[in-house]
Amino acid sequence: MNELKIIFYDVEHGSCTHIITPNGKQILVDVGSKSDKSIVDYICNRYFNGRNGSLDALIITHPHEDHIYDLPRLLERLYPKVLYRPTEAFDIEPLQRTPVHIKIADVANRMNVSYNNPIQSTENICNPQNVGGVNILIIPFVPQLQNKKDLNTYSSVIVLEYKGFKFILTGDNPKDQLQYMIENNYYGIKLFAKDATILLAPHHGRTGEFCNDFFRCVNPILTVVSDKSVGHITPEESSNVYRGRGANLHGRNRYVLTTRNDGSIVFSITDGHCTISTNTENY
Ligand SMILES: [Zn+2]
Repeated sequence: MNELKIIFYDVEHGSCTHIITPNGKQILVDVGSKSDKSIVDYICNRYFNGRNGSLDALIITHPHEDHIYDLPRLLERLYPKVLYRPTEAFDIEPLQRTPVHIKIADVANRMNVSYNNPIQSTENICNPQNVGGVNILIIPFVPQLQNKKDLNTYSSVIVLEYKGFKFILTGDNPKDQLQYMIENNYYGIKLFAKDATILLAPHHGRTGEFCNDFFRCVNPILTVVSDKSVGHITPEESSNVYRGRGANLHGRNRYVLTTRNDGSIVFSITDGHCTISTNTENY
């Protein structure tokens, strides 16, 4: 099956992107979850016949809780073969002193230490041969801008490209970091991120972190905002600033899709086409 599937799950105020490559590799970028329904349980039921399995890779853009909420469950049920994360951002502190928060931080810190071996090239998802011809580039955070008090500064940018379709996944990258990356053509980002199909908006689409130069470079057809109704964002503002090239979906011109309104958003790329479907049921 020559299909690449990319799913942006509706995980409240958090982020979880599921990539299923044409050769069946299962990769997650971040593992945010609804607080009352485990995303890992959903993935096991839907893609692993209800059983436990192992992920081919987990990429943690940065270890803020909304991006690693279901990590304890992931370790129990879908232990990843490869873990990409900004090692320097650890150890992390729990957000609050409750058992749930303490466990998340504890598991994340232990996981960071346990994956201290070099990644074997045979498992490396950044080699297209291993992932069905998908090009995956992980652009790490800018060392000069890192700040332990703000874990967002450790966010990476991930570029996925397959058969002419390009997805740019950001973490919660601050505006300054994105500006730096563009101005310095960091890791060749200006070419790699240029003219994308889909952008996963930085920092859940917060307009205060909107970086115009970055957005103009990415120039996406559609922007996905992973968010839920929280106080610091208004959807109108986000859809205005993240207005890319646009696409007609079901008779409507769309520029921004949000998990809060559209639910989980699924992109399937096969036979030179990219199809989009949304699902407002739970996950
Ligand atoms: Zn976040």
